[in-house]
Amino acid sequence: MTTVGVVGGGIVGLAVAREILLRRPEDTVVVFEKESSLGAHQTGHNSGVVHAGIYYRPGSLKAQLCTRGRYLLEEFAAEHGIPYEACGKLVVAVDESEMGRFDALEKTATENGVPGLRRVGPEEIAEIEPYAAAGLAALHSPRTAIIDYVAAAEALGRSVTEAGGEVRLGEEVTGIHRVTGGIEVETPAGRTRVDHLVVCGGLESDRLGELTGGPKTPRIIPFRGEYMQVSVAKQDLVRGMVYPVPDPRYPFLGVHFTRRVGGGLEVGPNAFLALSRRRYRRTSLTPRDLVDTLAWPGFWRFAAEHWRTGFTELRGVLSKQAYMREAQRYVPEIGAEDVTRAGLGLRAQAVERDGSLVDDFVIHHADGITSVRNAPSPAATSSLAIAEYVVDRMS
Ligand SMILES: Cc1cc2nc3c(=O)[nH]c(=O)nc-3n(C[C@H](O)[C@H](O)[C@H](O)COP(=O)(O)OP(=O)(O)OC[C@H]3O[C@@H](n4cnc5c(N)ncnc54)[C@H](O)[C@@H]3O)c2cc1C
Repeated sequence: MTTVGVVGGGIVGLAVAREILLRRPEDTVVVFEKESSLGAHQTGHNSGVVHAGIYYRPGSLKAQLCTRGRYLLEEFAAEHGIPYEACGKLVVAVDESEMGRFDALEKTATENGVPGLRRVGPEEIAEIEPYAAAGLAALHSPRTAIIDYVAAAEALGRSVTEAGGEVRLGEEVTGIHRVTGGIEVETPAGRTRVDHLVVCGGLESDRLGELTGGPKTPRIIPFRGEYMQVSVAKQDLVRGMVYPVPDPRYPFLGVHFTRRVGGGLEVGPNAFLALSRRRYRRTSLTPRDLVDTLAWPGFWRFAAEHWRTGFTELRGVLSKQAYMREAQRYVPEIGAEDVTRAGLGLRAQAVERDGSLVDDFVIHHADGITSVRNAPSPAATSSLAIAEYVVDRMS
C-alpha cells in the first residue's frame, strides 16, 4: 500500500487527491491545507470562469489541459449538483489597431478547437450582447461558462474523504524531508511519512518547491486583481461575459464583465503588484512577501521593461473612474457611478530570473515528489485534467 501526501487544498491539489483515489483505491491519501477551509486562496478569489481554450498557444499544456478540463469540469458539476452555467462569452475588438491581434486570436482559438466558436460582426454582437460596444468584430464562444469554484473544491474534498482519504485543514507544511525509503512531511502537528508527495501550493509554490530541494526558479510574484460589483439596476445589461482582446505581452486577459453563478455582474480583474501573498485587503502588506519580491532580480527586470503598463494599471487601482473608463470601451452604459469596489484576488505568477513571465503550466517531477510550480489561469478550469496529467506521470 502506498501513502501519497498532497500539499494544498485548492482545486488543483484536491483534484489530484481525488484522481489518485479513483485510479488506486488501495492507496492512502492525505491532503495538507494550511487554512481552515478549502479553496481559500486563488480557487476562492477568481472570476469563476470555465474557459474554453481561446487564448493558449496550440500544443501548450494550457491548451491541452484547458480543453479536456472544461469537458471534465462540466461533467463533474452536473454529477455533483454544482452551479454551472454556459452563458457564453464575446471577445470584442473595438479599435482598428486591435485587428491584427484579433485575427491571431481567432487562429489560435480555431487551432485549439474551441467548441462552437464563431467570428461575428456588429449586428450579431448586438443580438448576443445588446449593451456591448459597437465593436468591429467579436469572437463568440458559446460554451465558455461560469461556475462556483469553491463549491467544486468542496465537492472534490468530499469525494476524497468518501473514498477513504484524509483532508487535514489548518496544517501548514513547514518542512519536507527525504528519509530512507520515503518522505516526511512536517507540520506543527508532527511528521507524516509518505511514499510520494504532490505539491500544489499556489502562491507558495516556489517556497514549497525549495523545501522539496527542487529548482529554485521560477519565483512567484503575486499580482492582485480587483473587482467591481455592478449595481442591481445595471447588472442585467450583460447576459454572459464580455472580454477585451488581450495584450499578448501578458498572461492576464484584461478587465472583463462576468456574470456570477450566484447572481450579479462583476467587472475585473485588473493586474497590479501585490504586497502580500495571503491577505486580501487593498492595503495588505506582508513584510516577508514584499522582501521576497524585491529580492528577486526577475522582478526588477520585469519592472524595468513594463513600468509604463504598471503606471496605467496604477491609475485604475487608485481611481474608480480610471478603472471604469477602460471597461466602458466595452459596455458604455456601465460607468463609475454604477459600480462599487468588490473583493480582490491574488494571482501566483511565476517569473524567471530574466524577468519573463512564465506562461505555461510548469509541473516538475523528481524522486517521488511532483511539484506544480506554475498553475495560473486557466488552472481552475483545467484542474481535473491537470490531475490526470500528474497521476499519469506518478509511477
Ligand atoms: C483574480 C484571479 C482570477 C482568476 N480567474 C480564473 C478563471 O476565471 N478561470 C480559471 O480557470 N482560473 C482563474 N484563475 C486562476 C485559478 O484561480 C488558479 O489557477 C487555480 O485556482 C489554482 O489552483 P491551486 O489549487 O493551484 O491554487 P490555490 O487555489 O491558490 O490553492 C493552493 C493552496 O495551497 C495551500 N498552501 C500553500 N502553502 C501551503 C503549505 N505550506 N501548507 C499547506 N497548504 C499550503 C494554500 O493555502 C491554498 O489553499 C484566476 C486567478 C485569480 C487570482
